[in-house]
Amino acid sequence: MKFNKVLDACKVYEAGKPIELLVREYGVALKDIIKLASNENPYGTSPKVKEKIKKLVSSMYIYPDDSMYELKEALANKFHVQNENIIIGSGSDQILDFCIKAKCTQNSKILMSKTTFAMYEIYGKQAGATILKTKDDEHNLEQFLSMYKKHGADIIFLCLPNNPLGECLNKDDVYAFLDEINKNTLVVIDGAYQEYASFKDKKKEIIPSDLINKYNNCIYLGTFSKAYALGGMRIGYGIAQKNIIETLFKLRPPFNITTLSLAACIEALKDKEFVQKCIEKNFKEMKRYEEYAKKKDFDYIPSYTNFISIKLDELFSSSDIVEALLKRGIIVRNLASYGLNAIRITIGSKKQNTIVFKILDEVLEKLK
Ligand SMILES: *Cc1c(COP(=O)(O)O)cnc(C)c1O
Repeated sequence: MKFNKVLDACKVYEAGKPIELLVREYGVALKDIIKLASNENPYGTSPKVKEKIKKLVSSMYIYPDDSMYELKEALANKFHVQNENIIIGSGSDQILDFCIKAKCTQNSKILMSKTTFAMYEIYGKQAGATILKTKDDEHNLEQFLSMYKKHGADIIFLCLPNNPLGECLNKDDVYAFLDEINKNTLVVIDGAYQEYASFKDKKKEIIPSDLINKYNNCIYLGTFSKAYALGGMRIGYGIAQKNIIETLFKLRPPFNITTLSLAACIEALKDKEFVQKCIEKNFKEMKRYEEYAKKKDFDYIPSYTNFISIKLDELFSSSDIVEALLKRGIIVRNLASYGLNAIRITIGSKKQNTIVFKILDEVLEKLK
């Protein structure tokens, strides 16, 4: 059978290995598995959210509130914008997809950093667009600007901070860059880890209301999957000027957000203390990874997220390490597919990290 030709160039997104696979393939006991590959919050979901969900189980038979009024209100309050400035998606992933569909056809160009979130390219190729990438691994705005001036772009993606490397541009530099961009180019600011970046360094903080008031061609994306510990609920949001949001709405499937997800996010937004505590612990634990890398003489990228990317030296291959860790029940991300001899580890809980260091010691010793 013949399919849409643009799909020939599309790769399938490689998700972090699921826990069940290790049980099946390596015979690791479920209780011994530590999954640090998808940047989930290791502290679990807020107890208040869990309570709320239990109460709602009996209402599953009716469709969710498709206006999503309550969650929009809560987000509008949090970010000091209007309801009309918000779109909610099944993960911010879905909004990324809407953005590309809204702007791109086969002749379109999409500009992004060389080593960034894989879905920008995957959705872009699904639309048949041409993908333009800057040269450096980490975001480099000079390179962005020179490529933009040379080729133009229908969409620009800035991942702030960047997954999978963890670096983050300063807000002032981002704004100076945006000043140079044509108003017909949609700039997507992916803030999936902004809660972490703005906690660590205020210079990195992007305030969505300020962003969209200054730049009417920008959309800010946030998610409940990371700091809010709701990856399983699949909710993300986009904040932009009304005309952008209205257009994205045309692409939305009906009832794309479940009743339980909506309620979970509303409740999660109320429990500010929980999120704050998780972020504090994240950076405390990240220090241990930095010290571990230094001790082993590995370079790492200073991270503004809940993961750290460690560059290996020529003595080790990231693929060997990832495989050896898998057999011991630890799931991390191999960055070999990005052409890097590096691994990305989500910062786990104190207890998990202690085990990771011990097993990593053993694995490195064996592979030497
Ligand atoms: C996790 C992540 C997302 C989206 O996650 P959803 O679960 O779809 O909300 C978007 N961008 C980046 C960079 C991410 O790491």
